[in-house]
Amino acid sequence: MKQVDIITEKTLTDVEKIQKAIATNPESEVELKGFVHKIRTMSEFAFVIIRTDRELVQCVLDKTNSFNINDLQEGDTVKIVGTTRLDSRSPLGFEITIKELEVLTSPHEQMPLKINKRNFDATLNVKLDMRPIALRNPKDRAVFKIQEGIVRGFREFLYTQNFTEIRSPKIVSEGAEGGANMFELDYFGRPAYLAQSPQFYKQMMVGVFGRVFEIGGVYRAEKHDTSRHINEFTGLDFEMGFIDSFEEIMQMEASMLRYVFDLLNRDYKRELDMFGVTLPEFTTIPTITFKEGKEITQKLSKKKIVDFGDFDADEEKIIGDYIKETTGSDLVFVTHYPSKKRPFYAMDDPTDPTVTLSFDLLLNGAEITTGGQRIHDYDMQVQKMLSRKMDPERFSDYLMIHKYGMPKHGGLGIGLERLTYKLLKLSNIREATLFPRDINRIAP
Ligand code: ATP
Repeated sequence: MKQVDIITEKTLTDVEKIQKAIATNPESEVELKGFVHKIRTMSEFAFVIIRTDRELVQCVLDKTNSFNINDLQEGDTVKIVGTTRLDSRSPLGFEITIKELEVLTSPHEQMPLKINKRNFDATLNVKLDMRPIALRNPKDRAVFKIQEGIVRGFREFLYTQNFTEIRSPKIVSEGAEGGANMFELDYFGRPAYLAQSPQFYKQMMVGVFGRVFEIGGVYRAEKHDTSRHINEFTGLDFEMGFIDSFEEIMQMEASMLRYVFDLLNRDYKRELDMFGVTLPEFTTIPTITFKEGKEITQKLSKKKIVDFGDFDADEEKIIGDYIKETTGSDLVFVTHYPSKKRPFYAMDDPTDPTVTLSFDLLLNGAEITTGGQRIHDYDMQVQKMLSRKMDPERFSDYLMIHKYGMPKHGGLGIGLERLTYKLLKLSNIREATLFPRDINRIAP
């Protein structure tokens, strides 16, 4: 009878194995599998650049080799055996002289996109139409390696702070954020919606585990077509109980981001370098109130401020620039947003009920997070619903937690793609979204 063996050791990538071999012998015989990314034929030899899952490896095929370079094409997958040679001009510090080359598979057709050009200059729309292959461009795919790092850091840090990871349903019967931006579904003849946020469920789970987080899909049927909105995004959400003040949530976020940026600088440096950005360095983050933010925009904005309940994109940019200029910080917390513009579950400030114990975090002049303290008291929550003409009966499942007891608690939601796009200073959030869904796009 055949048996399936268990993997018991960390699997090194081909490049890691090669680097390990080079450390003891710079001229090691090594094996490498990957895609033929680029072929550059010279008179006596050809450079064959192999694309692995994370690197480009420079290999050299001599004319004297029995393998004819004309039998190789870009897009082939290959296995090569060769000898390493240290070379400071090559990006990895070595190149491989090919001894044996085996073509494993060949593409049906040559790619219509020049993914191997250093300046991959297709338009964003073309790149998105051809996403499955466009993502093979080293810089375009690097965005998502960095995004992996952000998610890893978020998760790892919150584990160290005793958070429990949860998964909440994405098909729901009520929206948590109000408004008309919900995707409606036909759920066996009944109306249902795609979740606008995990808000209700993460609060429910605070009553179970105290501190919880979730990394999951968020759906917004917003019809705007901007460079910072998409209709499906990944929410990095956490919620924590037994807080004394909403500022503890800000402190948790600042510490988490610091952890994430340190991790990116440590493990994702090669990808970061492709974007030439320096991640924010900080030990503290400046904080202003919403009112102070409005004073700044009123003073510095060229246009008339019309909305006194929120900031538009231009105003966020003005605040971001002002804070950068006056404090050097790329990040700024804005606190105490007006009550009327915040959701029904937001806790009002007892010293001024026109504002909430809430905050946004701006990075490079754009919102990346909304958070705050939530109402834990049953009567207070029902009252606030009634004052907004909401029917508490419809929210009886949610209100169970208030009725049967909740600690003081709060939390936040960060948009993963929004954060990635602002961090890498990309021009459009879609570049930081694997397969974006927007008002004009539902495929690929
Ligand atoms: P915005 O004012 O930017 O439209 P919002 O106030 O509606 O965002 P929240 O509901 O507070 O956003 O969501 C929390 C976070 O989720 C935001 O700070 C942002 O990072 C992200 N986010 C919200 N809407 C979108 C969207 N349509 N596309 C991408 N990310 C989003």
